[in-house]
Amino acid sequence: MSADTASIDASPRSISNYVAGRWTAPSGTGSLPVTNPTTGEPLGQVPLSTGADVDTAVAAATAAFPAWRRTPPVERARVFFRLKHLLEEHKESLARSLVIEHGKNLDECRGELQRGIENVEHACGIPTLMMGDVLEDVAPGIDCEAIRQPLGVFAVVSPYNFPVMIPLWFWPYAVAAGNTVVLKPSEQDPITHQRVVDLAEQAGLPPGVLNVVHGDREAVTALLEHPGIAGVSFVGSSQVARILYRKAGAAGKRVQALGGAKNHMIVLPDADYDLVADAVVSSIFGSAGQRCLAGSVVVGVADAYANIRERILDRSASLRVGNGLEDGVDMGPVISARHRDRVMGYIDSGVKDGASLVMDGRGARVPGYPDGNWVGPTIFEDVHPDMAIGKDEIFGPVMGMSKADTVEDAIELMHRSEYGNATSIFTTSGRAAREFRYHAGISMIGVNIGVAAPMAFFPFGGSRGSFFGDLKAQGRDSVEFFTDKRVVITRW
Ligand code: NAD
Repeated sequence: MSADTASIDASPRSISNYVAGRWTAPSGTGSLPVTNPTTGEPLGQVPLSTGADVDTAVAAATAAFPAWRRTPPVERARVFFRLKHLLEEHKESLARSLVIEHGKNLDECRGELQRGIENVEHACGIPTLMMGDVLEDVAPGIDCEAIRQPLGVFAVVSPYNFPVMIPLWFWPYAVAAGNTVVLKPSEQDPITHQRVVDLAEQAGLPPGVLNVVHGDREAVTALLEHPGIAGVSFVGSSQVARILYRKAGAAGKRVQALGGAKNHMIVLPDADYDLVADAVVSSIFGSAGQRCLAGSVVVGVADAYANIRERILDRSASLRVGNGLEDGVDMGPVISARHRDRVMGYIDSGVKDGASLVMDGRGARVPGYPDGNWVGPTIFEDVHPDMAIGKDEIFGPVMGMSKADTVEDAIELMHRSEYGNATSIFTTSGRAAREFRYHAGISMIGVNIGVAAPMAFFPFGGSRGSFFGDLKAQGRDSVEFFTDKRVVITRW
């Protein structure tokens, strides 16, 4: 199907696989509902692809690879220049569509689009990014060159919390580098990315270069086991990232698997407390806490704790929960009733484990939206790292507050978490910030920043239990991941 402006709107449409340039129904008969998390209204049924559907998609990607690889990088890049313009042209309607299927507010959805577009922009640089190296006379009369070549078909498996941006962390780089791709989007909110695929087609992406199979674990497992897949880019929970890393590694594939998070925000006594309160509250409650870079535990060092406590409580109490399409809404619902129950379960467990619940979001209601998956801002004090709310990823609007006597104690507390995705320090001391950067042992570090999000041209990914692999998403790592360096030694 070719897209025109009219098709890029926020209304529901059927959800289909996209194989060899055509929207097609998979062979399996299973499906799952996709639901508007704000209203509870059905948006469509996502089909569950089988191993046979994966075979068909991989066959299409394999068939498209030789001609696409032969397409000069500068021509491949032009497709992405056109896609960038189309995404910008349709940014507002795509953002609205995202609010409807994900629930976060319009500004957050615009931000997601913008970050996705920046990856498309970066992929436009592929003719330069893919260049190799040459050294004349490595031995008398012998020259040596290292060239980058694409590897074939890559699989991309993405989560629900950034259903447009995260696929764009990967497939534009893979495809610009000359590979072809089979994408398996999240089954919870797969609609808006379909419109991105329409735009990619409109930008001139040939059939078979990007393919989409919908589904759940069965489709992912088929991709991991498929001999035609050269590598897998995954983002999701650490539990699944671990399984996928092992399976794909055992099948001899390249893997980059980005997992979950429990991000600590450490506040020193010399911090700017108003800045801290703004940054902490928007980091922890933005997107209803459903971001891998969201802060989770605020650690006040010495006097800082007493100074930030009231400010954080005041700002959190003023947050407006509601329909993300309405002006002035700070926080939307969580993605599903099941996830809401999971988050509520964590709040119950925090109370049971003895943390002090100073703001309780369990009773949140939004007039006019009785079927939304609401959880209001929730804050615990006296959170210990051994409590479930102190160590597990909750992925909801729940803040834990802890005290530490020194920054070293705060780092030690942070290291008791298995995760290592992001952290932030708040201080006015350059020396303290530098020491923190040195000792934090976490991959994405914010200094006076609430969401330590690297831009498209820097690597994105965590460490410890938050990341499995070595080459990260975005940046130069993407070009490394999606190409093989081949060395040619020549004597004439
Ligand atoms: P998820 O792990 O449940 O699902 C992610 C993908 O894996 C989906 O496409 C899903 O269909 C598939 N999947 C689920 N179970 C599977 C299984 N057993 N075998 C194979 N595939 C399976 O994650 P989610 O709930 O969609 O997303 C939220 C998670 O993603 C959070 O943990 C969050 O921290 C993480 N996340 C991490 C980053 C990062 O950069 N590290 C970014 C965004 C989200």
